[in-house]
Amino acid sequence: MQLTETIRRWKEIQRTLYSYRHAIALLGTDGDTVAPRGGAAERGLTLGTLTNASYNIQTGAEMLALMDELSAHAAELDRQTARELEVVRENYERVNRIPEKEYTDYTILTNEAGDVWHDAKHDNDFARFAPYLEKIVAYKKSFAAYYDDSRPVYDVLLDEYETGLTAAVADSYFDTVKAAVVPLVQAIKDKGAQPDTEFMHAECPVEKQRELSAWLMKVMTVDPRHCVLGETEHPFTSEMNKDDVRITTHYYPRDFISSAFSVIHESGHALYELNGGDEFRGTVLACGTSMGIHESQSRFYENIIGRSREFTAFLLPELQRIFPPFAALSAEQLYRAVNRAEPSLIRIEADELTYSLHIIVRYEIEKALFAGDITVAELPAVWRELYKKYLGVDVPDDTRGVLQDSHWGNGQFGYFPSYSLGSAYGAQMLNSMKKDVDVFACAAKGELAPIVKWLSDHIYCYSKLLKPAEVIMNCCGEPFEPKYYVDYLSNKFSDIYNL
Ligand code: ZN
Repeated sequence: MQLTETIRRWKEIQRTLYSYRHAIALLGTDGDTVAPRGGAAERGLTLGTLTNASYNIQTGAEMLALMDELSAHAAELDRQTARELEVVRENYERVNRIPEKEYTDYTILTNEAGDVWHDAKHDNDFARFAPYLEKIVAYKKSFAAYYDDSRPVYDVLLDEYETGLTAAVADSYFDTVKAAVVPLVQAIKDKGAQPDTEFMHAECPVEKQRELSAWLMKVMTVDPRHCVLGETEHPFTSEMNKDDVRITTHYYPRDFISSAFSVIHESGHALYELNGGDEFRGTVLACGTSMGIHESQSRFYENIIGRSREFTAFLLPELQRIFPPFAALSAEQLYRAVNRAEPSLIRIEADELTYSLHIIVRYEIEKALFAGDITVAELPAVWRELYKKYLGVDVPDDTRGVLQDSHWGNGQFGYFPSYSLGSAYGAQMLNSMKKDVDVFACAAKGELAPIVKWLSDHIYCYSKLLKPAEVIMNCCGEPFEPKYYVDYLSNKFSDIYNL
């Protein structure tokens, strides 16, 4: 086949897969948001049909022939096609090297494990979940070896969520965070005085909160013709394509701050997808490049901008307009309240400062588990020990301890570090952005367009063309450097708590 013909067919097959991805995402999002519960079984069958059809194309003879043909002409490929080939090849190898029977058994196992985890968490019964976890860990070990037995298992797992990430890089990152954040959290504890957050639990009607969400999305320049907000138990972002992104939030009548910052967070994810490069439409590159870079965006808007002194001062009059009971609140009170930092048990409720300590616990456990240094049976005890060591809290039960997250039951080992890395990437991006944009002057006026434009030009427009490390290099002019993050946290929280 002529190379031009190979490339034409290559783009066509990607467009077909992209259409499957669109339909699968739409059905999934529909099921999570507005679809009636009674429709789950049929929807599941349809999803199964579509997933199978897509899988057969991805692993079929034609795909393999196209990849080999393109690889044979590697030197002649343009940058985009070469990167598409790299991404498709990696996805292919990750799945295709696993014997089919093992992969099917694993899929059945993780499906079951999800339900068992749910019940075990509810009943505080780790022993029920442990046998599933043991099997999942064994599968992940052999899958990693099928894919690449020249690297440590945990490196292969990390790399799946954050391309290029190794335990060596993560170790040095988390050591830097630990050294700065653990004493900072202790100093805040010793100080003993916490800002008043009582007002945040005043009753705010959901209707009013919806009004606030719409206002926030407008401030963030999220285009309502291409992004809509739904309501779910846990907030998430689901992208169909760059023309259609769905985000969700959860309204608590007595915790309006929770939804407000969820909307900012998910809008950050949405902006990344909405501003992707047009040239990547219909290809495997038409999405954010990694979990970590995606989290860098959501957390940048949520914490660095949203929880800044400037933005909270801008937010206050709107809050007072929507919720008259806040008339007496000062901007400084609001700023301190939304930045209250305090060790806690639950990761998803953690504040900006202590969040990474929750991730360090999971990271150290995963690393030890895959190195064979600890067993699944020891997880609850190790969890308690590490929460005491890093957060200084006593874990009362496994429901609020080792069973709190769904990730491990889904086989998602190596995923957690990307949450924390995202925050650190964001701080480094801020440092670089400040050279071009008066970031906090924009935040003070609620004019976020220059910030979104900078991020679009330096990050979003590349979609998945660049790998995470290349994104950092491209927008910061230097490799990933954790010191920006710890400096940012130290400055911000030393100021808030007068340390
Ligand atoms: Zn997120």
